Amino acid sequence: MYYVLTSLRRTIVGRIDKGENCSVSGCGSEADRSISADKVKSAGLKIGNAVDKRAYLCKEHYKEYKKKSKKDKLIDKWRHGM
Ligand SMILES: [Zn+2]
Repeated sequence: MYYVLTSLRRTIVGRIDKGENCSVSGCGSEADRSISADKVKSAGLKIGNAVDKRAYLCKEHYKEYKKKSKKDKLIDKWRHGM
């Protein structure tokens, strides 16, 4: 289990320093990832304090973001008739 986690971590981009909080409005959890705010918004997540172009996401919202952005990609495929 441990090595799965570490190998996963190596492939993840946008790791951030500790101390940031999740940017999703209503969520104050410790942020785990930093992602382009535009991407987060287009995935349908509400960003409360979008100060700059980066949005910080906690683990839970990062999961949600990944789920939603995957769905969007699928929808794009359908739109393009694939
Ligand atoms: Zn959050």
